[in-house]
Amino acid sequence: MINVSGLNKSFNHFPALLDVNFSIKRSEVISVIGPSGSGKSTLLRSLNLLVKPDSGSLKIGDQQITAESLTYRQIADFRRQTSMVFQHYNLFRNKTALENITEILICARKFTKKEARERGMELLTQVGLSHKADAYPATLSGGQQQRVGIARALSVEPQVILFDEPTSSLDPEMRREVLNLIASLAERSLTMMIVTHEMSFARDVSDRIFFMEQGKIIEQGKPSQIFTAS
Ligand code: ADP
Ligand code: ADP
Repeated sequence: MINVSGLNKSFNHFPALLDVNFSIKRSEVISVIGPSGSGKSTLLRSLNLLVKPDSGSLKIGDQQITAESLTYRQIADFRRQTSMVFQHYNLFRNKTALENITEILICARKFTKKEARERGMELLTQVGLSHKADAYPATLSGGQQQRVGIARALSVEPQVILFDEPTSSLDPEMRREVLNLIASLAERSLTMMIVTHEMSFARDVSDRIFFMEQGKIIEQGKPSQIFTAS
């Protein structure tokens, strides 16, 4: 479903990703862990080309690209395959919770306003926020904002959802509500990749864990293999 081969990315000659290779099957849930600066975020962003790799090839679904010969058309098409959930939610501040979802469906997926509203309400219901449809982000808690972010990510039915430290800005109580929501998505056969510092979540929810250090995946395996009893 996802295949990454020979991926490299440097920032000012500093290698953030060094010959990264992996495959992910449909419905797999992958947690990416590792120290700060090890390249987790760069890896995730490379998958939707928010970061443009220097070299390597990426395949998501039936679309394959090569970093050295990327066209704008390919980037646009490739981005449609993924959704990203950000640490700081990245909601439009001047749009309501519902509008944050309908906007993308109308612009990117050519839904009519009516269709977008219906789908948006359905998604807000799934994340337990139908009663906040008309609320602006500033009036929502961090956990609620992130649930809107997740509903928005789901709305376009991507091949894979990428989570970049989705709970790092939240206090413990809200962290729990967002982690529970992500865990419930994992049960729905969605393909997901999650950069996280939440070790118990990574252990309990992931099918596999990638452990990164200095731009490489130095270990990958089932949680039971990565978190061996010591
Ligand atoms: P992690 O997510 O594991 O904390 P990152 O992928 O954010 O690591 O960063 C990996 C390395 O690349 C770090 O040294 C970071 O400073 C550097 N880096 C990331 N993004 C940029 C950028 N846009 N410009 C320059 N350096 C960057
Ligand atoms: P995250 O919390 O997702 O790891 P960071 O705080 O590391 O994000 O980085 C935020 C933004 O700054 C990202 O777009 C990243 O690419 C960029 N960035 C990270 N490190 C550097 C750096 N050393 N120089 C320039 N930009 C950087």
